[in-house]
Amino acid sequence: MNPEEFRRHGHEVVDWIADYYKDIEKFPVLSRVKPGEVRSKLPPNAPEEGESFEAILRDVEEIILPGITHWQSPNFFGFFPCNASGPAILGELMSAGLGVQGMLWTTSPACTELETHVLDWLVDMLGLPAKFKSDGPGGGVIQDTASSATLCALLAARERATGFQTNELGCDGCLVAYASTEAHSSVEKAVRIAGIGRQKLRLIGTDDNLALRPAALLAQVRKDRKAGLVPAFVCATVGTTSSNALDPVAEIGRIAAGEGMWLHVDAAMSGTAAVCPEFRHIHDGLEFADSYCFNPHKWMFTNFDCDTFYVADRAALIRTLTILPEYLRNKATDSGAVIDYRDWHVQLGRRFRALKLWFVIRHFGVEGLRRRVREHVELAGQFARWVEDSVGFELAVQPPLNLVCFRHKAGDEFNRRLLERLNEGGKLYLSHTIVKGRYTLRLCVGQTNTEARHVEGAWREIEQTAASLEAGAS
Ligand SMILES: *Cc1c(COP(=O)(O)O)cnc(C)c1O
Repeated sequence: MNPEEFRRHGHEVVDWIADYYKDIEKFPVLSRVKPGEVRSKLPPNAPEEGESFEAILRDVEEIILPGITHWQSPNFFGFFPCNASGPAILGELMSAGLGVQGMLWTTSPACTELETHVLDWLVDMLGLPAKFKSDGPGGGVIQDTASSATLCALLAARERATGFQTNELGCDGCLVAYASTEAHSSVEKAVRIAGIGRQKLRLIGTDDNLALRPAALLAQVRKDRKAGLVPAFVCATVGTTSSNALDPVAEIGRIAAGEGMWLHVDAAMSGTAAVCPEFRHIHDGLEFADSYCFNPHKWMFTNFDCDTFYVADRAALIRTLTILPEYLRNKATDSGAVIDYRDWHVQLGRRFRALKLWFVIRHFGVEGLRRRVREHVELAGQFARWVEDSVGFELAVQPPLNLVCFRHKAGDEFNRRLLERLNEGGKLYLSHTIVKGRYTLRLCVGQTNTEARHVEGAWREIEQTAASLEAGAS
């Protein structure tokens, strides 16, 4: 494909994407294909000779599009959002066009320096502790996901707790990690990968708001110490995935500081809320954290994948992950004057992810981001009031931000059927969880283009579907 052909097809693809966004509300939000249906339409073997771009685009339309669940629909309320926006898509395209691999500063200086700079911006934008900025001993890096950030935090914690000996000798099975029973599954995965062992992960009980109970944490830490184990790592969650619970970071932080444990704070979706000063309380206690992460790819209008990961002491992280074979040696690295992000995560290679984040922040402006986040929280609050004022429905917990956990009073089986019926209907997409042992529906407002009319439509659809199920049952 020469540059002129690229220009022509590139315009076609951008047009296609623009039309997709124009028409997005016409598609059933949840894909309706059956397992194997997409593959059954694909030829068994790769083409021997190249095909026309027209043929490829036609198949996108006919084979791929029906198999898409429309995460970018304003009627997508499931899980946590994985939102995108025009500037982010274009930033992603630009990054693909430049095609740089930024493993070292020297392999593309702008890739590293823009990333450092934008991550410093974000510290100010969210009111994070200044220790996470690059001009002190700390700093930030873009990871693919919160899962990777948590793994890196745990690896650094492991090394700090063992005088950087585990890298040399392997695990001796003495380290213990802590998180609440509501923490994300990525904590368990990290514990398994890092060689801590699943049996050395203590899942601490939660209170009525599903937040970690600090007293229970302290009791467990003391018990483990008495048994000759070494408490090394605790993960606090700001906005749990199931119900958006906010762990008491300050109290957990005081325990971590007293016990010499690494405190990692996982704010995957909810961290974005701190762009608004009135929501910054969610980060109270962050001054105790050794590391922190949130995902601009969840609620900051930046295409997947983009997690920002901050450490208070980058030396510990770098010492944990650095490796310098001869073929990567270069003058800039030897001078010590540059950041080589290859030392800040698991993989060596890295793409230019900062570009899309930079596009997003500049396009919206900080105030523009605040307006959207505020609107999402307000819409979720409005929805919660409708639930509370209704006869049939109730809240499972009070929504702290943009996630509403609610259910019909008719019981688990009814809610299960209600969710299935709603999602089959195609007008919206919700997901579910279990809150305090009961089947619960989740409506998360966070898609870039969701407006009041979508949330109003969702509530209408939910009420009507419940009424028709009730009528069918009687
Ligand atoms: C979504 C989520 C994660 C995992 O996100 P990835 O970036 O996909 O790894 C981790 N923690 C919390 C609290 C989440 O909500």
